[in-house]
Amino acid sequence: MNFQLLHPADQLVIIMQRIYGYGMTTTSGGNLSVLDENGDIWITPAGVDKGSLTPADIVRIKPDGTKIGKHKPSSELPFHRMIYNKRPDIKAVLHAHPPALISFSIVRKLPDTHLIPNVHHICGEVGMAEYALPGSTALGENIANVFEKGYNTVLLENHGIVVGGENLFKAFMAFETLDFCARLEINANRIGKPIPLSPKNIEISRKKQHVAMEEFTPASYSSMEKAARKEMCKLIHRAYDQKLFTSTQGTFSQRLEGNSFLITPYGIDRKYMDVSDIVRIDGDKKEAGKTPSRSVMLHKYIYEKHPHINSVLIAHPPGIMAFAVTDTEFNSKIIPESYIMLRDVPKLPFGCSFMQPEMTASEFSKSVPIALIANDCIVVTGDSLINAFDRLEVAEYSAKGIISARNIGEVVMIDNSRIEEIEEAFKLK
Ligand code: 13P
Ligand code: ZN
Repeated sequence: MNFQLLHPADQLVIIMQRIYGYGMTTTSGGNLSVLDENGDIWITPAGVDKGSLTPADIVRIKPDGTKIGKHKPSSELPFHRMIYNKRPDIKAVLHAHPPALISFSIVRKLPDTHLIPNVHHICGEVGMAEYALPGSTALGENIANVFEKGYNTVLLENHGIVVGGENLFKAFMAFETLDFCARLEINANRIGKPIPLSPKNIEISRKKQHVAMEEFTPASYSSMEKAARKEMCKLIHRAYDQKLFTSTQGTFSQRLEGNSFLITPYGIDRKYMDVSDIVRIDGDKKEAGKTPSRSVMLHKYIYEKHPHINSVLIAHPPGIMAFAVTDTEFNSKIIPESYIMLRDVPKLPFGCSFMQPEMTASEFSKSVPIALIANDCIVVTGDSLINAFDRLEVAEYSAKGIISARNIGEVVMIDNSRIEEIEEAFKLK
């Protein structure tokens, strides 16, 4: 789907549906606008159910102030307008009250965007705007003044968040990424002390470049490949809906015959990923005209070294990642399912997946199907797509279980004799 070719009213409806569907706004909260090339502002209506907006609900404000539409425009039109006035580069504004960002806005702290790479790059520096009455010119001035200083992502004291972008999808991406980062930081604080990336590791992460590969144009696509592409898209959409992936983060690959595999592209929206977006790798070559995930070499080495692995997944969900950004060890011996699916999960040093992909690939085996990489990601392997997907889900749910348990009592692990019993019964040895 080419988002930029959609009519502004359709863009607003799609993004509001996504925000609502992801649990990042309530029925009454939040508003979105797009500034059209002719100066019109297209904005969501005031007080209309945000969970079921249609294009006909969207209000158009002409440059002379004339309103066209069947509803009143958002009560926050003043701040949307003031941001556009102060920042001609901004063409879309998003405002909402997602729970994790409310938490930061009421303790008046900015989320740490350096816990994992890319977040700072996507969200930029985050600013804070002083509290004022919703819908007031004073609130508009407070927010627009922070935007005027160059911030695109601004937390509102005791209210929520406002993000501006060169288009609505970019604003949404920054919003979703910051919310994810806020959830990660909250989880990490519940189990330990979050450790941000060091300046040296930030520098290292900038070195993570696209891999230069020769191109090939596929002569044909086998039925096995077609089925794999379809299955991958289905599970990528599901991973997004289960909040295991964000719109542009989360990588899936699937082995094909010979030395070929399929992998997710870089930077394409996971929610609408299509079979034609998936990239085929044949040996050292990539499918022409496409950009594979920057982690492509790690996938390639894992398939080369481990014939039993047919699928690899890299993700950053905020439960299991809490263990990757703190010194707290993730122990899977909490329920049988966790130990059977995850086994002992090692934590590898930051940067290894792209600095030493071959060595990192060697860390996996039948008894080590999963690894955490400090301040980066979780790498999951499986004998099939669904097996890798299941493992990722089990890892995230187990992590969530441990994080919540800390509030209600002391965690009791399954003891070693019972672990041995599990290993025997499930033939894990
Ligand atoms: P509207 O429904 O008027 O857009 O208001 C929602 C909101 O979040 C106010 O800050
Ligand atoms: Zn609001």
